[in-house]
Amino acid sequence: MPIDFELSEGSKLAQAHYRQVAVDQMRPISRKYDLAEHHLPTEWVDYWWDEGRFSFHDKAENKTAPNDGFVTVCLQAEELCWGDAGLYLRMPTPALGGSAVSSAGTNEQREQFMSAFREKGGHPIWGAMAITEPQAGSDAAAIETTADFDADTEEWILNGTKIFCTAGEGASTADGGFIVVWATIDKSAGRGGIKSFVVMANTPGMELIGCEKKLGIRASDTATLRFDNCRVPKENLLGSAEVRKKGPTKTGDKGFKGAMATFDASRPIVAAMATGVGGAALDFLKEELENQGIQIRYDTPPRELTAIERDVIEMEAELQAARLLTWRAAWMMNTGKRNNLEASMAKAKAGLAVTKITQKTVQILGPVGYSKKLLVEKWMRDAKINDIYEGTQQINQLIVARRILDYPSAMLR
Ligand SMILES: Cc1cc2nc3c(=O)[nH]c(=O)nc-3n(C[C@H](O)[C@H](O)[C@H](O)COP(=O)(O)OP(=O)(O)OC[C@H]3O[C@@H](n4cnc5c(N)ncnc54)[C@H](O)[C@@H]3O)c2cc1C
Repeated sequence: MPIDFELSEGSKLAQAHYRQVAVDQMRPISRKYDLAEHHLPTEWVDYWWDEGRFSFHDKAENKTAPNDGFVTVCLQAEELCWGDAGLYLRMPTPALGGSAVSSAGTNEQREQFMSAFREKGGHPIWGAMAITEPQAGSDAAAIETTADFDADTEEWILNGTKIFCTAGEGASTADGGFIVVWATIDKSAGRGGIKSFVVMANTPGMELIGCEKKLGIRASDTATLRFDNCRVPKENLLGSAEVRKKGPTKTGDKGFKGAMATFDASRPIVAAMATGVGGAALDFLKEELENQGIQIRYDTPPRELTAIERDVIEMEAELQAARLLTWRAAWMMNTGKRNNLEASMAKAKAGLAVTKITQKTVQILGPVGYSKKLLVEKWMRDAKINDIYEGTQQINQLIVARRILDYPSAMLR
């Protein structure tokens, strides 16, 4: 089987396009919204509403080769996070909510919720996914939010609290926005009872409690939401209501596993976000070194290299390894191959790589790297989240180990 590590012409054009967006639209306001946490970045949102929403493919006259779709999504994430990771997360798009509808919903639901999104007419809106609760993070099966069916009104009634919901403010309050909420319809069935529900913005009973103050990605709205007898139509349950105690359901609904499949799509995107932030730091560092007359001598034997040259080469190797793992996971997604292992590998590698690269950049630049005069200290703060959400470093390593050793989760936890 041939191996080809080259991006298609279409993907390269997309990459260049999103880099330009990052340079022109994001970098100039990067510090402003790092400081103005919880303020809507209006310049960026307006840009996205007016222009950015037109997909690159519309502009690129269809130069994209077949099967590029998800790879291009990852390239977009990398380039825009090179610009600013917090602003990227504040972009009005279906985001994780869209991934959840795509992976756990039926064709009819995809049509219903995603076409409603597309046809909003005026502008794109936010989507989000709410899994995490005060007592349930890594162990998503421990969620306690409930969904009870009211047979008279044919509605699901949600009760519970969700925390750390990215884009949760926009998705819960801006007309047309939606949040995919995980809840149990049968606690006695454990993970088999967990289902996901689409809750449209401003649904009575869903309350935005507030947004988190954070170390990094401060332009991103990370919300706490309370559901108090929040009613959603029967059709807003993604998949079927059948509770799977063991084995597949009669309807073929994938239940908890189906909902978990969202991560196969979201983890490569987070990995790409990480390589974007890492790339921002590394590019800046190399430019600074060059300005100081320090050239990285790639063709010199290791024993003759300076410590800084060695550091930079190692950082580049880390970044490139993370990027290639990410592209592999994305390419597998495109081609319909199961990528659960590769998505976790990419996410674990990229989360660690970006944390190391940004810290090392601050270190090499010295006090100026630590100063707010530069964005380097911000990239160090923005980097760490990639090692936490969409499964922490430890959880993704656990998944990789389980898959390689072929152990069920009960045997390796
Ligand atoms: C900025 C931000 C945005 C977020 N966005 C979202 C979102 O949009 N939607 C959403 O649902 N959630 C979101 N989250 C939540 C995030 O996914 C969780 O924080 C994450 O899954 C970890 O869960 P936890 O916080 O409960 O930590 P815990 O599960 O309590 O973990 C604490 C520590 O223990 C380690 N650990 C846990 N279990 C194991 C184990 N079995 N083996 C080894 N180590 C283990 C973890 O790796 C971690 O280091 C977000 C979080 C942040 C900070």
